[in-house]
Amino acid sequence: MGSTAEDIIISPKPAGLEGPGFLATSIDKVVGLARANSLWPLPFATSCCGIEFMATMGSHYDLGRFGAERLSFSPRQADLLMVMGTIAKKMGPILRQVYEQMAEPRWVLSVGACASSGGIFDSYSVLQGIDRIIPVDVYVPGCPPRPEQIIDGILKIQHLVETESIRRRDTPEYKAMLAKYGIE
Ligand code: SF4
Repeated sequence: MGSTAEDIIISPKPAGLEGPGFLATSIDKVVGLARANSLWPLPFATSCCGIEFMATMGSHYDLGRFGAERLSFSPRQADLLMVMGTIAKKMGPILRQVYEQMAEPRWVLSVGACASSGGIFDSYSVLQGIDRIIPVDVYVPGCPPRPEQIIDGILKIQHLVETESIRRRDTPEYKAMLAKYGIE
């Protein structure tokens, strides 16, 4: 059955002062609302968790409902890096390069046990969590996580994006955090 106009849920407007014909709010809230509802994810999918992501993009779960259906396979046109699958140590520098090529502001979602901690692969060749080489904003547990869990991770990212100050990336704290990873 097709959806109707009544099925469409509009994002709530930001808090502010309002009256007939006007709404006064802060630029942080407006930018946050726009960014959160138009994420462009870059899927860095290496193994089985990537299959769950394909299901998440399919018509049943439909990530487009959250404004994030426009996938980007170019880091320069992406603002959400989704890492899904086992990351071998040899692949670490590639992942890091992809992250570094993304423009600010950028967010990282670590999907599944492998990306978050190496998962069951406690071996010499597997990176024991991508946060050893790049900062991570939200972790999604599971092996594999179901599409509902991936969507939950996206909702948590959206909350971070919506509530982040537009000046956060210029703060000494943020630069110090990147410096810990050796990223300028
Ligand atoms: S967490 Fe499990 S399902 Fe996901 S990539 Fe690792 S082994 Fe595969």
